[in-house]
Amino acid sequence: MRAELVAVGTELLLGQIVDAHSAFLSRELSQLGIDVFFHTSVGDNHSRLKEVVKRAVSRSELVIFTGGLGPTEDDLTKETVAEVLGVPLVEHPPSVASLEQLFSGKGQTIPTSNYKQAWVFEGGEVFRNRNGTAPGVAVSKNSVTCVLLPGPPTELYPMYHEEVRPFLESIRNTEEVVVSNVLRFFGIGESHLVERLGTLIRDQTNPTIAPLAKEGEVTLRLTAKAGDLQGAQELMAPVKEAILQSVGRFMYGEDDDTLEKLVISALRDQRKKLAVAESCTGGMLAQTLTSVPGSSAGFQGGIVCYTNEVKKEMLGVSPELLETQGAVSMKSALALAEGVRSRLDTDFGLSVTGVAGPDPVEGKPVGLVYLGLSEKGEAPRAYRLDLGGSRQKIQIRAVKQALYTLLERLKKGVAAK
Ligand code: ATP
Repeated sequence: MRAELVAVGTELLLGQIVDAHSAFLSRELSQLGIDVFFHTSVGDNHSRLKEVVKRAVSRSELVIFTGGLGPTEDDLTKETVAEVLGVPLVEHPPSVASLEQLFSGKGQTIPTSNYKQAWVFEGGEVFRNRNGTAPGVAVSKNSVTCVLLPGPPTELYPMYHEEVRPFLESIRNTEEVVVSNVLRFFGIGESHLVERLGTLIRDQTNPTIAPLAKEGEVTLRLTAKAGDLQGAQELMAPVKEAILQSVGRFMYGEDDDTLEKLVISALRDQRKKLAVAESCTGGMLAQTLTSVPGSSAGFQGGIVCYTNEVKKEMLGVSPELLETQGAVSMKSALALAEGVRSRLDTDFGLSVTGVAGPDPVEGKPVGLVYLGLSEKGEAPRAYRLDLGGSRQKIQIRAVKQALYTLLERLKKGVAAK
């Protein structure tokens, strides 16, 4: 099935928002075996929107519009699609009822302009909006299906998963199942990974292999199409095996795994606690860890030791050490990791100290970062990183490298048992 996506909204053209919906829908449609051939963004302008609708319905079998279903005069998507397809809009009593319920719940009467949101395509589909006033709508005419969805993400995403996806499954003219598996790598750049996989990536057909690099991590998305789930998995298995043979030592997880989730679950499984001392990342490591629900099972707490006073007073780093070696040094990283582990009485202490930029510190270059890892009963270790990029990128990469270093250590802990 040939599909295209149309994002409606002048904010998109002004650069005030980026079109996240088309990226989301493209990913979702590929899972359903529906090929997306075009993305278009268009403003809230009747004649230009009409031009886009005419072109889309002339070349695609499925057109999904997002945005422009609001109550105001410049919300024109439904009216314009109805005009181009020649399908009348009719009042949809259940949508009127839910509008009435929504407004009376707030002790308000329905503004007249909102009533137009309860108009739907005659003979079409209606997707309930649990989080807003505009239902999603769909209509099929002359072998083209148009699906119109509200712009606010809090309305669009639940509606897609609950109602739109099952609808698309019912209309896609393919019996194929599309299965994806994301492999996650750390410690190897995208170009090295692609180079190592060589012909495997160049000769890909089914499954396809799509590399994507993001902040020090690289993912490979394997996507296989087959008559059924088992067939797709059988196509995927030997390719995955070949990938693992070549670059398996850099793979840390799959699908929805993240470094922080894996660290927390390993700590929880091993009944170990972690404390962190952060200088140049200013709390980002603790924030990342606590973004995982249930992180208290492995994460005890952290200290943001940004100035030397805090390093000395809160973590017991010796003034002489800071004086002679500087805060950005191997020895300070070790002392911070040891200090936080003993002060918070945990199994592991992890520290980050470095120069996030934009200016050098203590005569040390931007991007120089030391990690310290202290473990109860073991000699502490420190690691030097030479990171590139903006201040924020250096911080993110330092956090990810710290998590990866601890994860590797935790994996060894399991292997040694
Ligand atoms: P409303 O009732 O809020 O007017 P609507 O269906 O008319 O809903 P829009 O007004 O086009 O939707 O968009 C509402 C908000 O949703 C935008 O301000 C923006 O924050 C977000 N949004 C809309 N389209 C996109 C998009 N393509 N990508 C990311 N965000 C979007």
